[in-house]
Amino acid sequence: MAARREHGKSKEKTGQTKGERTSSSKQEADGERIPSQKQANLEPGDCLLCGKETRGTPARQDLPIIAARKLRALFKLQKSHTIACPLHLADANAKRAKFEKSRRNYAILAAFLFIAVILGTFASGQFGFGEIIAALAVALFTLSISAFYYYPKFD
Ligand SMILES: [Zn+2]
Repeated sequence: MAARREHGKSKEKTGQTKGERTSSSKQEADGERIPSQKQANLEPGDCLLCGKETRGTPARQDLPIIAARKLRALFKLQKSHTIACPLHLADANAKRAKFEKSRRNYAILAAFLFIAVILGTFASGQFGFGEIIAALAVALFTLSISAFYYYPKFD
């Protein structure tokens, strides 16, 4: 609520600098109208990109988001929703797309390494149960690297 008021205030300020004092009240009304239009899928929370407390698109409740929320609850930290405010939704979606791309690349690399280790041990005549485990470990480790690029999905 405070953030929205601040938002309206800054709009009013820009209106004043342009010398449009008379339209400032109208702009404020517009500021009130825009969030309520998309009320259905907007939730109050903290924007992941600007940190502002406002209304925005919520992050999808996937494993890292649920885990982060449980951790916050465990340490009795503020239970705020992770959202992307309308201003930063496009940025957030671009970052999510980047993560999905790197995750795909690491998955391809993991599959490739798995096959390479299996073929390698096969060629050297050392193929066995332990080698399958080793190949799986290499593949899982490679997959887990993409977790460092994790970015939530907003929809
Ligand atoms: Zn933002």
